[in-house]
Amino acid sequence: MNTIQWHVDKNEDKLFSYPQIQQAAHLLQENEVVAFPTETVYGLGANAQSDQAVAKIFKAKGRPADNPLIVHIAQLSQLELLVTHIPEKAVPLMNAFWPGPLTLIFHKKSGAVSEFVTAGLDTVAVRIPDHPVALALLTAANLPIAAPSANLSGKPSPTHANHVITDLNGKIAGIVDGGPTGVGVESTVVDCTGDIPTILRPGGVSKEEMEAVIGQVDVDPSTIYPHDKPKSPGMKYTHYAPTAPMYLIDGEKEWAQQLINQKRLNGLRIGVLASSETARYYKADLVLDCGSRHDMHNVAHNLYYMLRAFDEASLDMIFAETFSKEGVGAAVMNRLEKAAGHQMIRQSEGQ
Ligand code: AMP
Ligand code: MG
Repeated sequence: MNTIQWHVDKNEDKLFSYPQIQQAAHLLQENEVVAFPTETVYGLGANAQSDQAVAKIFKAKGRPADNPLIVHIAQLSQLELLVTHIPEKAVPLMNAFWPGPLTLIFHKKSGAVSEFVTAGLDTVAVRIPDHPVALALLTAANLPIAAPSANLSGKPSPTHANHVITDLNGKIAGIVDGGPTGVGVESTVVDCTGDIPTILRPGGVSKEEMEAVIGQVDVDPSTIYPHDKPKSPGMKYTHYAPTAPMYLIDGEKEWAQQLINQKRLNGLRIGVLASSETARYYKADLVLDCGSRHDMHNVAHNLYYMLRAFDEASLDMIFAETFSKEGVGAAVMNRLEKAAGHQMIRQSEGQ
């Protein structure tokens, strides 16, 4: 399949009327699959109402069929068509964070979207993205659009159009290139079907930010303890893993450098994911600086780009520093722990 690439400047006015957006929207209406930028990562969109269209997403990504998709809409008025009712606690969250990196889980209106979108569940995940290109495309298509991240399953989510091309060129109808994405990690997924909203996946909106709006917010224990069964089906998969095995390291930089030296003496090629505070100190085969510990939004923004860069450097092992789990740090550490398969080396363990 020839994958069409359109370039769009997200800062232009009236994007909706651009021929690139109109063409991409037309392909979505024809039940084809099109990748597009959102404020979190690039999404891989298809008509959520069509089995045929949604099946193409799963095929292109190699995504397991039991991992449901998020439905993207452009306006609140589209929500009523998808869900049985809107729980009271969801309203302030929508008012505060939509459009934005927050996905809410509702009871699904029967027949509103393809069964493939919801993987047979009686709930549906919905969000309004905060990106002018995504909103223009959703408006032009005038459909609810199911869109997971536009990477091959198991690869880091794409934050640049190039990442999408690397993973999916020739497998999908088109890619709207709107430049790098902003937030860099996926949306926060929150279950609103119970009494207390519960975070199933940490992401761009933090627990603290939500609690400031609605009070108590719970966290599904599986996001913290790897052996608990997650409520969100997708969370059981080890996403985001770079090719070389990755280890989180918790200790002083001098200790970490000794660890690196030992491995290199054994002939291994070592990569290090460091903060700006320590990156210049390390000597290894590839040291990537993912930003200052004091700006976790920037670390989130850089994270997937860095994980992909490691893959291009033929490394044998990657060591990654750990970060505070406060605010968006919870999402960063959740992704790093997954990328490392929860393997951690601690200085205190004397290793
Ligand atoms: P992705 O689209 O790749 O960002 O992944 C979407 C995430 O949302 C996955 O972790 C899914 O398991 C989760 N998700 C989507 N729909 C539901 C749902 N109805 N209930 C629980 N989790 C969901
Ligand atoms: Mg994904």
